[in-house]
Amino acid sequence: MEIQGVGIGRGIAVGPVIHMAAGLDVPGDDARSEQLSADAEFERIGKALDTVNQDLLERARKAQAGEGAKDAAPILTALAQMAQDPALKTSIRSFLDAGKTAERSVYEAFADFEGKLKEIGGYMGERANDLHDVGQRVIADLLGVPAPGVPESDTPFVLVAPDLSPADTSSLDMTKVLAIVTSEGGPTSHTAILARSRGIVAVVSAEGAEDLRNGQQVIVDAASSLVIADPTDSQVADAERARQAADQAKALRGQPGQLKDGYKIPLLANVGKPADADPALECGAEGVGLFRSEFLFLGNEQAPGVEEQARAYKALLERFPGRKVVIRLLDAGADKPLPFLTQADEPNPALGLRGLRTLKVHKQVLDDQLEALAQADAQTDADLWVMAPMVADEHEADYFVRLGKSKGLKKVGVMAEVPSIALMADKVAKVADFVSIGTNDLTQYTLAADRTLGSVSNYQTPWHPAVLRAIKMIADAGQANDMPVGVCGEAAADPQLAVVLAGIGVTSLSMTPVALDDVRAELTKYTLDEAKKEAARALDGEFYHPRGWE
Ligand code: PEP
Ligand code: MG
Repeated sequence: MEIQGVGIGRGIAVGPVIHMAAGLDVPGDDARSEQLSADAEFERIGKALDTVNQDLLERARKAQAGEGAKDAAPILTALAQMAQDPALKTSIRSFLDAGKTAERSVYEAFADFEGKLKEIGGYMGERANDLHDVGQRVIADLLGVPAPGVPESDTPFVLVAPDLSPADTSSLDMTKVLAIVTSEGGPTSHTAILARSRGIVAVVSAEGAEDLRNGQQVIVDAASSLVIADPTDSQVADAERARQAADQAKALRGQPGQLKDGYKIPLLANVGKPADADPALECGAEGVGLFRSEFLFLGNEQAPGVEEQARAYKALLERFPGRKVVIRLLDAGADKPLPFLTQADEPNPALGLRGLRTLKVHKQVLDDQLEALAQADAQTDADLWVMAPMVADEHEADYFVRLGKSKGLKKVGVMAEVPSIALMADKVAKVADFVSIGTNDLTQYTLAADRTLGSVSNYQTPWHPAVLRAIKMIADAGQANDMPVGVCGEAAADPQLAVVLAGIGVTSLSMTPVALDDVRAELTKYTLDEAKKEAARALDGEFYHPRGWE
């Protein structure tokens, strides 16, 4: 049986399923049996509180010793203390004295305290969920059933759950969790974010995962977004090989991107906000090749001020001292509309005002962003490169480079996304400090196929020799003029295409951080000469398979 979901990252894992234990029912509010005295029940509750306290402390100790998520240790210690809170015990006693059952007394006492924390709000309010978790553990102990939440197991397993809460994930023992499968939660759910940042194999939104049985063997294949139940021996062997290859690729982290003969191709990360620096660094990015600055503008009613922007750029640059960070100016328009900057009624927005064209019309926004970048640059030690999106030719490149330099920016370049810039590359190379090729848009415009339209998605491949030839024109101009030419579109994240791009003469590759391992590993399999041969074949169309026109 195969279950389709949304893969996070490209990892693969094989193992037995364990479902997250379901939540407990709220204990009924019936009167306690007369045979159960308040004293005896209070003693029983005391023991349950002690058990939960000891259990949490033990898990904190293990986490601290590196057997689980280290950052979970202080949280677990704090939870353990909650189970020993004297005020809570007094409250539990008062409910017992009122004739309620042990489970109900615990439930009501914890609920009271949770309510108080929620009333305080802020940080304390967020602790209410943690307190609830402790209460549930105590009630489970009293009932003699497994505590809800992340199960414990001595052997590795695939965790299956509807979705995971932040509290669940903080206590995940990563030495035991091979993969996570959730039936709910999308690619931006907490589970997905955690999986991405910690490199956990995960498939989310896998509707039907709730039908998997405990102990059932599954392959979790994030690259193909599949969960395969009861796999055949050969499927397991394939998965095992893929896993080993991924492990080997991961072992190269920390090495610079290079070909077999040592020819360097720096591997950089595409990021969308300063906090993305963490996964990028974790995956061994040598710097940032594309910071999409739109996040500062999206959802706002007006452009953020110079100070606010400078703070955000500074936060990113600070994470990369001495390393290259390429920040792209706002790319408003077409697939990234911004109500206060772009017109809603353009019949063909991708061919309308977008990127640098929009910025030129809203010159203050352009000036402010450059000013903020210059300020952040002056306060940090990163090697800041700044580029404009949607630059059509050498005249626009010259306009932008001069403007950027007038603000004190040192490295100013352009994105190559419109075919005209490839045709004029020799002239562009005379004025720009660098070019970064956005293959997503370059493909859309070269093949006249809207990147947002499913009906023409068969054209959306950077393997098309027309796209590769456009890239070659730019790379050749770069080489002739000693100008760096990077690729920062999705093409750079395809390991085979990365080899071709290196062979074409591209000097750096920037991609989503999770793709770095595979690209780094693939590059080491080819010398520059071999990569050039692959490039020649690709430019000749050998690797391009037209879909729908065979
Ligand atoms: C591109 O077009 O390839 C690119 C990197 O820019 P975006 O995807 O943000 O348009
Ligand atoms: Mg683009």
